[in-house]
Amino acid sequence: MLRIAINVVNVVYEMRYRKTHVIDLPKRIVVGSGVRKEISKHFKSLGLESPITIVTGSGPTQSIGREVREHLEDSRFDVFQLEVRLANIDSVSKVEEVARESRCKVIVGLGGGKAIDVAKYVAYRMDVDFISVPTSASHDGLVSPFASLKGMNTIYSMKAKAPLMVLADTELIAKAPRRFLIAGCGDLIGKFTAVLDWQLAHKLRGEYYGQYAASLALLSAKHIISLSNIIAKGGEEAARIVVEGLISSGVAMCIAGSTRPASGSEHLFSHALDLVANFPALHGEQVGVGTIMMAYLHGRNWSMIRRVLKKLGAPTTARELGVSNEKVIEALTIAHKIRPERYTILGEKGLTRKAAEKLAKTTGVIEEEL
Ligand SMILES: [Zn+2]
Repeated sequence: MLRIAINVVNVVYEMRYRKTHVIDLPKRIVVGSGVRKEISKHFKSLGLESPITIVTGSGPTQSIGREVREHLEDSRFDVFQLEVRLANIDSVSKVEEVARESRCKVIVGLGGGKAIDVAKYVAYRMDVDFISVPTSASHDGLVSPFASLKGMNTIYSMKAKAPLMVLADTELIAKAPRRFLIAGCGDLIGKFTAVLDWQLAHKLRGEYYGQYAASLALLSAKHIISLSNIIAKGGEEAARIVVEGLISSGVAMCIAGSTRPASGSEHLFSHALDLVANFPALHGEQVGVGTIMMAYLHGRNWSMIRRVLKKLGAPTTARELGVSNEKVIEALTIAHKIRPERYTILGEKGLTRKAAEKLAKTTGVIEEEL
């Protein structure tokens, strides 16, 4: 069993070129097989108190939630368990109502993404501790202090609570559908272009650039590329590799205090595709395809990225994402408008239809006949 423990929180320091910078990091990260069974031990040593609210998804994570609840109750913690079907403002209101009524001190998000997003946003609103228990490894939101919720004003992530502890049970993550793990790889490979976009914004716009956070995010992408043969085989070893990458990407966002190291033009493309095609595929799958195209625009080795994604069994074409060629082109032409303050290779004016079509064709994302 591998354990990583990081014991640095609330690092506050003055930087030469900017104001005070506050970094909230997870106090404890536990990665290993069967670690969910040790949750009470960690709660006690971190000094966490009842009542606790566990938020799960509506599928199989409910029974995992029950098991975790029983472990906590056996150690005399008072626990409420709630399920959410969607990561939206209604789910946030429902969970917040119960958590406030019970004067909850800790919120546990247990699931693949939706439950974690809702839990971390409620914890942020209530200013209580947030614990992340991912049951799959499909994106780096399991560690980051940002939540992706529908029905808010934005389609991209919003500030939320950084987890006090991440408990990543590789036994559970390895059992989740393979598609999730591969999507996690796509989200991580996206850091290549996210960091390039960040550097561009720094050079052209004078935007703050954190070398350390950028290097850490980049490391998580390289980690996936160099270990892609092992990941392709699946199993607990693959789950551990991807989870470690997602954790370091999440920590990079904590250090930067923004999603900048982890989200650039490839994410703008994915968000744009969500808008025009109504969330057609998993976030990480869309980001992976976006990375191929944005790497081309950056003049980087896009075909290597495509090759690795193919080897992992990730989508690399519009058809594999379940969208028409037209939707990909439409998404490419509006991506720059999703988040105008986030400067990327797409520039202020974005791509023309002709340029978008050429980009998608050259990189093999859409077929020649359109
Ligand atoms: Zn992402």
